[in-house]
Amino acid sequence: MYPSSFQKLIDHFNSLPGIGPKMAERLVLHLYKNSSDRIDDFARDLLRIKDITSCKTCFNIAESDQCKICADSSRDHTQLCIVEESLDILPIERSRAYNGMYHVLGGTIKKQDTHHLSIEPLLKRVLQNGFTEIIIATNFTTEGDLTAMYLQDMFVRANKDIHISRLVRGLATGSDIEYADDMTIRSAINNREKIS
Ligand SMILES: [Zn+2]
Repeated sequence: MYPSSFQKLIDHFNSLPGIGPKMAERLVLHLYKNSSDRIDDFARDLLRIKDITSCKTCFNIAESDQCKICADSSRDHTQLCIVEESLDILPIERSRAYNGMYHVLGGTIKKQDTHHLSIEPLLKRVLQNGFTEIIIATNFTTEGDLTAMYLQDMFVRANKDIHISRLVRGLATGSDIEYADDMTIRSAINNREKIS
């Protein structure tokens, strides 16, 4: 039996995705062995997560109304890459093959339902901004494919003269962009397929 504060921490870690009870125990033990300064830093940064918000333009994780990418005037504001989650942006950024803007959907279409996604603001953005190319970078899963088709259809109906492309399937079917390595992402972006 652990002291209750120790056990409570284990329970917190255990409630996180991908962390089982054994790993939770190991993490808490690791923290317990840390210096008190490092624990203070950890706790302070953890509390600050409450101040993190989402960008009002692209829905990426941000510390203010605009994320760093939207606020960066040196980026190409004519290209838009649509991803499922903020986590998908990091591997694309790391690949250095893309320097445009992003839009974070917040997931995929589920049973024809799009209400949980930022699709309305996306369409508004596309209609109002001078994008010349849209890259759909949803994952190569059934839901990701459905979402890509839905978006493609929506943009075609919006009747704007914009190139629409999708990352090539160098990324294995069923795979998540989040876990792809730099080389794979770079080649998927460089060889993107024009779909309309
Ligand atoms: Zn943004």
